[in-house]
Amino acid sequence: MKTLIVEDEFTSRALLREMLKRYGAPQVAMNGREGVEAVRAALEAGEPFDLICLDIMMPELDGQEALRQIRQIEEEMRPAKRARVIMTTALADRDTVVESINSQCDYFLVKPIDGRVLLDELRRLDLIPRS
Ligand SMILES: [Mg+2]
Repeated sequence: MKTLIVEDEFTSRALLREMLKRYGAPQVAMNGREGVEAVRAALEAGEPFDLICLDIMMPELDGQEALRQIRQIEEEMRPAKRARVIMTTALADRDTVVESINSQCDYFLVKPIDGRVLLDELRRLDLIPRS
């Protein structure tokens, strides 16, 4: 599984890396702008990400705007599959959740992230083996 973690906080970034590393070393980006650049570079190289964990509150470019741009780049570059996107945030805010779903993410996790919930979701999305 090729994964990108887009997260501005060190602790959350380290935690996600630790949870996901056994499925392939994740790439990391520190903000939305870097995340969008990483997605574009991966698509140009013909090796798109399977999974993107995308924080919502970030400097430079927030997660929702980054997601809109990522989906737009995918629309232009037409990879075989769109990346699965899991939005992560400390805001358990209903409007944010609804907006994230509307802007085409696959799942939404509230921090602190529970590793079991994350891995269950990755299994449901067929990104990691079920057993
Ligand atoms: Mg943040």
